[in-house]
Amino acid sequence: MTTAFHPWHPPVLTVTDGPAFPTRRIFCVGRNYAAHAREMGVDPQRDLPCFFAKPVDSLWVDDRPVPYPQATGELHHEVELVVALKDTLHRATPDEALASIFGYAVGLDMTRRDLQRAAKERRWPWAMAKGFRGAAPIGTLVRGPKPSGRIWLDVNGDRRQEAHLNDLIWSVEDVLVALSSQVTLYPGDLVFTGTPAGVASVGPGDRLHAHVDGLPDLHVTIGPATP
Ligand code: MN
Repeated sequence: MTTAFHPWHPPVLTVTDGPAFPTRRIFCVGRNYAAHAREMGVDPQRDLPCFFAKPVDSLWVDDRPVPYPQATGELHHEVELVVALKDTLHRATPDEALASIFGYAVGLDMTRRDLQRAAKERRWPWAMAKGFRGAAPIGTLVRGPKPSGRIWLDVNGDRRQEAHLNDLIWSVEDVLVALSSQVTLYPGDLVFTGTPAGVASVGPGDRLHAHVDGLPDLHVTIGPATP
């Protein structure tokens, strides 16, 4: 069929061993480490995970600097374990959820915190705080068992965030069970599983080094502000 303009295709992620991974959507979990929930001013709870989404064109998959986004003076880092799905999931059990996972990567849920704070005050959606060019840098995907070690982030060589994946309030399978009870998940979907305490601002020239035990490190440099 003839289309009005050339269609855009979602990014494709590098995989350590095998064919590349075509992406579809990005879901995220908020407040999934108790200490981070407290630093954001809320009591950690386990009634239902807080879900939100980022546009898939937020992904940043190459080595170029991530441009400092427009409309913010407070760009925060959030290092996260990212889960990539290879199967459809609908009202999944924990075993079905784990079996649907293609692999894992290190990701950054970059956040315009000033816009998020304003949105919370007005009871507006978080979309403008969470979705923008370069809002979701992601590293190389690894197939294999669920990571179980440490997660940390250094900025210019200084440790800013650190936790153990055991500290997740909602485990990877808990997250997929809860999310698939609300929407059907499809191959290519990514789930950012939440960030530990220590989120803070970064600016042009800052070098971010994100790590999860067992996964390739993610290195990101913040570029100049977007004109
Ligand atoms: Mn996050």
